[in-house]
Amino acid sequence: MTQQDLSHVSCAQLTGVGPKLAEKLAKRGIQSLQDLLFHLPYRYQDRTRITPIAHCKPGVHALLEGDIISSHVLRMGKSQMQCILRDATGQMQLRFFYFTAAQKNSLSKGQRIRCFGEVRYARHGLEIIHPEYQIITNQQDVSVEETLHPLYPSTEGLSQQSLYKLTTQALYFLEQGHLLQELLPIELVNRFELPDLKTALSFLHRPPPQVRLGQLESGENIYQKRLIFEELLAHQLSMLRIKQNTKQEKALSLQGNQQLTHQFIANLPFKLTHAQQKVTEEILRDIENVHPMMRLVQGDVGSGKTVVAAMGLLTTVEAGCQGALMAPTEILAEQHYQNFKNWLTPMGIEVVWLAGKTKGKSRQLALEKIANADAQIVVGTHALFQDSVKFKCLGLMVIDEQHRFGVHQRLALRSKGEQEDIIPHQLIMTATPIPRTLAMSCYADLDMSIIDELPPGRTPVTTVVVSNTRRTEIIDRVKTICELGRQVYWVCTLIEDSEVLTSEAAEKTALALTQSLPNLKVALIHGRMKSKEKEIIMASFKAGEINLLVATTVIEVGVDVPNASLMIIENAERLGLAQLHQLRGRVGRGSAESHCVLMYQTPLSHVAKQRLTIMRETTDGFKIAQKDLDMRGPGEILGTRQTGVIQFKIADLMRDKDWLTKAHQAAQWLLETHPELIEPLIKRWLGDSEQFVNA
Ligand code: ADP
Ligand code: MG
Repeated sequence: MTQQDLSHVSCAQLTGVGPKLAEKLAKRGIQSLQDLLFHLPYRYQDRTRITPIAHCKPGVHALLEGDIISSHVLRMGKSQMQCILRDATGQMQLRFFYFTAAQKNSLSKGQRIRCFGEVRYARHGLEIIHPEYQIITNQQDVSVEETLHPLYPSTEGLSQQSLYKLTTQALYFLEQGHLLQELLPIELVNRFELPDLKTALSFLHRPPPQVRLGQLESGENIYQKRLIFEELLAHQLSMLRIKQNTKQEKALSLQGNQQLTHQFIANLPFKLTHAQQKVTEEILRDIENVHPMMRLVQGDVGSGKTVVAAMGLLTTVEAGCQGALMAPTEILAEQHYQNFKNWLTPMGIEVVWLAGKTKGKSRQLALEKIANADAQIVVGTHALFQDSVKFKCLGLMVIDEQHRFGVHQRLALRSKGEQEDIIPHQLIMTATPIPRTLAMSCYADLDMSIIDELPPGRTPVTTVVVSNTRRTEIIDRVKTICELGRQVYWVCTLIEDSEVLTSEAAEKTALALTQSLPNLKVALIHGRMKSKEKEIIMASFKAGEINLLVATTVIEVGVDVPNASLMIIENAERLGLAQLHQLRGRVGRGSAESHCVLMYQTPLSHVAKQRLTIMRETTDGFKIAQKDLDMRGPGEILGTRQTGVIQFKIADLMRDKDWLTKAHQAAQWLLETHPELIEPLIKRWLGDSEQFVNA
């Protein structure tokens, strides 16, 4: 028999696989026997021993064998079939809500059966609902399964049973000595004392009966570790390859004589922090390259990312190219526009504004200036990525507050700015720090800069958590603060996911506060207002003409009014940690001592209580982000848009943190020492989804 490489053997060669089944498998990305063997069980059941009925415990799956001593169909509303199974130790009720006439006949009194299912409490004693079962006739000698029973992630039309049969055949091929290429270099296998691939796969598809289910469920088994490591490694490699590919693209080398940047710094009313200088240097070094920069700047709220971006953009202008700055909301984009105009217009630089709502003549004019490069710096929203926007010479694109962008979105953005094979340098800025685990897995395609220092003279925000029954007290506090010449935010949170309801509630709150605080100027801002109105209100709040700004979470990101020193958040229990942190970051930007009042409505859920406590205890964005990750997991934090990146067959980012670090290091090493292994590793673990990443 010649040895075949199982990555080249099609599933169609297996017994029982016709064109239809082959198609279903292919839909799931399973084409070769290798694919099939890497379709790993996600859970196991123990069907290796028969449990005496008397030993059954609720909540546990059990294999039973006994005689049916009674069987009847109850007709109360919907009909159901109840059987009583008896063995030497006791009896158990079996209940069926759906059953065929044939089933009814076969499960009749006196019949011996073997059945499997989850035992639960019934009204009298224990029961199993819809057990799997098998009729036993006297002549048969039915053996129990010899290994733990795997449960596979299945899709429509692919039953557990057929996956079991198919993997059994594939494992047989493996046993017969056909090849499954070992893709981990021996150095890694030895270093981490890993078992070989073949043993690991055989074990995980059919674990021996003495293995504890609990151990498998917690991912602690060394055979699991073997595959977890390989999978994490493959993911790391795929990200690093994207990074490498990007590095091979062409970009404009952006360097200037630093006249503009020096002038800019000299005009600032403060000195750059060390962290700002360090990150600026990293950026300027990158954009001098003829390959595109893909850099993520992390910095807590208020760390001063905007001036860092400005330095990059100014260098771009000095180099004779255009720079663009995109923000996710109009309020934020507008604020950047105002800042840049104030800073740069006196320096003779033309800053142009473009948002979705820019229409008619002004839009036409903006597009012309962008196309003929009169616009040296363009500030706007997502509108910058519309097809109609054509830059003459886009050198650097800064994307603010977009940590929720996945790798796919980043690539899409990149191609929008593309002209004649030249790709703009990209700087992505995020205000929500990214915990290391996520940074290493989902952002491994980017270079990282961290602004790990706040400008001097900031006093940390003091946070208090109070019940909304103390509203009057809080309103008094607002009055006192405003009389001291400070300004206040009053934030109304989202109601039932409805912007309409929320805006209405904010209107009512604003009205009520206007009445209770007759000597203060109270204004309202919410997402349903026209952008012109929002602009006017933000401008007069900034100018100090408004004392109290009632707002919905539209002010969440970026808004900068240093004189605001108190923030009240109503129904703070409705918000997640990241959002609370963002909101709170709007105060504590000046030198005055600032406060944040988290008002809640009882009863508080356990999780909400935990969140509010964390907010009270720390203002450190990195700590908060880590807690957020611990409490919600990566899927929730990154949102569904990211799931492609974090869907693993066997690894779990949170559980396998340590292995992620190992894989991260190993990937760098492998890239240099074993480039030939990269493609097969990625193909094995990411299959076709990798093509999507490259699209
Ligand atoms: P973020 O990182 O949250 O985007 P911003 O760029 O909006 O922060 O900066 C927050 C505030 O800090 C702004 O008012 C900005 O002018 C000010 N700022 C930035 N850098 C410094 C610095 N080095 N010293 C003092 N204030 C600074
Ligand atoms: Mg900002």
